[in-house]
Amino acid sequence: MIIMKAGATDAEVANVVEEIKKYGLRADVSRGEFRTVIGLVGDERKIPFSHFAVLPGVKEAMMVETPYKLISKEYSKLLGEEDEPRVIKVGNISIGGDEPVFIAGPCAVESRQQLFRIAEGVKKAGAHILRGGVFKPRSSVHSFQGLGAGGPEEAEEALSWLREAGQQFEMPVITEIRGETQVDLVADYVDILQIGARNMYDQDLLTRAARKNKPVMLKRHFGAGIEEFLSFAEYIAAEGNKDIILCERGIIPIGKGKSYTRYTLDLAAVPAIQKETYLPILADPSHATGRRDLIFNMSCASIAAGASGLMIETHYNPAEAMVDGQQMITPDELKEVIQACQSIHRLLVKKQK
Ligand code: PEP
Ligand code: MN
Repeated sequence: MIIMKAGATDAEVANVVEEIKKYGLRADVSRGEFRTVIGLVGDERKIPFSHFAVLPGVKEAMMVETPYKLISKEYSKLLGEEDEPRVIKVGNISIGGDEPVFIAGPCAVESRQQLFRIAEGVKKAGAHILRGGVFKPRSSVHSFQGLGAGGPEEAEEALSWLREAGQQFEMPVITEIRGETQVDLVADYVDILQIGARNMYDQDLLTRAARKNKPVMLKRHFGAGIEEFLSFAEYIAAEGNKDIILCERGIIPIGKGKSYTRYTLDLAAVPAIQKETYLPILADPSHATGRRDLIFNMSCASIAAGASGLMIETHYNPAEAMVDGQQMITPDELKEVIQACQSIHRLLVKKQK
């Protein structure tokens, strides 16, 4: 990390960037309120730090050991930024701002009628962002893979419903990109690109998605430790895209016998991650529990843990959903969840003041 002097000129910054490039690395230039910080992206072992420390305008050149320095609190502190999550603006919605954000909608987009009816319901319930999978990651090739599996025309049609529903009910929309070949198409239709738990490790997908310069929501792999999760988020930041929304969605349960939940929602990860990074973190109690009867409690608990929002699967008739019906709640239930979470959030804010 290269810290520039307070009065460093643009030419001095550009000179440092050129020097970094000479070593085959890339530079992440961040201009803070008080100073400019340049993060090196790449294999730093090639870099003679003493050489950089004496370049004009440089205050300090330092080695940062963490594998996720660009998204670390250390980085934002050097820039003199406040100790709050980065606020990611999507349309009129702020993720990481003063209010928790609720993303809701079906697991999968099944038809225009289904999506519009759910979109209307979740909007009335108080949701801010509409979700719906078009390319579904499924454990069995014999199960419904999302309308996107029908071919490019079907994929585009489903994505256009998502966009239309978002416009009609005034909600930004999010959908999952399951593979690199889907990145360009999906980015044309949605406001936030979702990278699912199963693809958290796909660095080529992360890189391609990051380059679309749209916010990316990265879900934690169910076997990933926190450091690993943040290290993969760093791949997005390394492309110059720091509009990254993290999402805790449960890790693999341990022990013999039935675990009674689909995954284990790791709620301590929420405040632990907030100590490490300025990125906002949401929780997904739907995929974590796999049980609609646990959504209310785990939603409240996630907000109490400090999550900047929730992703909740919603359907007007969960029994008829083609995917994940067992964990979906109705728009009426969603409304109760949102209201309870907002009350808990207000209480927490009051306590902290
Ligand atoms: C989803 O949100 O649609 C999903 C499949 O979640 P995850 O990647 O967390 O399993
Ligand atoms: Mn689902």
